[in-house]
Amino acid sequence: MSMAPPKGETGIIMSDIPIEMRADRAEGVLHIAWEDRASRLSLADLRRRCECAQCVNEWTGERILDPDSVADDIVIDKMELVGNYAVRIHWSDGHNSGLFTWSKLREICAS
Ligand SMILES: [Zn+2]
Repeated sequence: MSMAPPKGETGIIMSDIPIEMRADRAEGVLHIAWEDRASRLSLADLRRRCECAQCVNEWTGERILDPDSVADDIVIDKMELVGNYAVRIHWSDGHNSGLFTWSKLREICAS
């Protein structure tokens, strides 16, 4: 008898929370293990998608960050959990004001 509840019928949807996140500097990717899949995200692409107030105008939604200003070989120095809903990424370019929520990461992984 399995104790695991059927997928999609629990209050907390476990598949929306990463089981593991690992940045691979050599490959330039962030590996994310979800309950139902494994994803690889380009670090440079992820950095360019940052939606903090320094990267995106909070009022107009206009992107302030010039994607070309992000080096293709950018890496992650440190990742910090924020509550149980997001991660704060400390980038090698010194940027660390952006939060990536699990739902945002799921969205990026699905795109
Ligand atoms: Zn940002």
